[in-house]
Amino acid sequence: MFEKLRNTFSLIISNLSKHELSEKEINKVLEEMILSLVECDIAYEVAAEISENLKNMLLGKKVSNSELKDIVRENLRQILLKIFYEIPKIDIIERINEKKKLNLPFVILFLGINGTGKTTTLAKVAYLLKKKGYSVVLVCGDTHRAGSIEQLKQHAMKLGLKTIEQKYGADPAAVARDGVTYAKTHKVDVVLIDSAGRIQTDKNLMDELLKIVRVVSPDIKIFVGDALAGNDAVSQSKEFLKYTSFDGVILTKMDADAKGGSAISIVYATKRPILFIGTGQNYEDLEEFVPEKLVDHILLKE
Ligand code: GDP
Repeated sequence: MFEKLRNTFSLIISNLSKHELSEKEINKVLEEMILSLVECDIAYEVAAEISENLKNMLLGKKVSNSELKDIVRENLRQILLKIFYEIPKIDIIERINEKKKLNLPFVILFLGINGTGKTTTLAKVAYLLKKKGYSVVLVCGDTHRAGSIEQLKQHAMKLGLKTIEQKYGADPAAVARDGVTYAKTHKVDVVLIDSAGRIQTDKNLMDELLKIVRVVSPDIKIFVGDALAGNDAVSQSKEFLKYTSFDGVILTKMDADAKGGSAISIVYATKRPILFIGTGQNYEDLEEFVPEKLVDHILLKE
């Protein structure tokens, strides 16, 4: 996982720690660093900011060579962590409990492009919540893509959960409303709504999503992005943010991502927190996102 980014940071640390560098030498290393980071799916602006911060930190330092490597590593660590900690976290469980106290279901709408792992992720979240003791209903809100309703029903069957659906071509907002009404009458804690994907620039798709939002007022909207898509995932997220907005991100396929920059770039670009990461194809493969874990993995000491 993230071998490419890890090797890049390792090289940067050793290049900056060789000997006492002049400003010119530091600039050269940092210029090369920006290009390498961009190749690892780190957005250019993020790479440039990392470079600027690192430069400011290094120029003021009078340290011995033996300490330099640790100092560069620690500075990088702080710079990367700051990107994540500038964004307020969301505690879904706490939010669900608040609604539960009011005898109301907590409604989550999943957004994202087809193929990113949206349906699987919705099922993983359902599995996690069921394991924690919450009752959950799934809403087949993608009424466009052939097979999408059956796909979600199959997950529901495996997980022992109920689905709410209508026919293909039905208005997704009406299906979503059915789901919320069902949850209210049957005292279900959480409603998870799937939605259609298509391409992010599709105006009809965005209008349809906005209608769902208007009709059921989800408590939280989660954008599902594919870590492997790198900068494409970042531009998709920006497009969704512009039209429907969302509160948090789940980044899938982190287990297969050799580059590793998507998480950093998406948080930087959207200013939304990553709630969970997908780390495999099974229901248990959903982990809470812990910035330190990612950053320490990337900056692992060799
Ligand atoms: P959707 O079209 O966005 O609903 O995507 P699906 O849920 O059908 O997922 C597409 C593919 O990605 C499936 O083969 C999933 O098993 C796979 N997938 C989803 N999440 C992950 C993940 O975190 N890691 C890996 N390795 N595969 C994933």
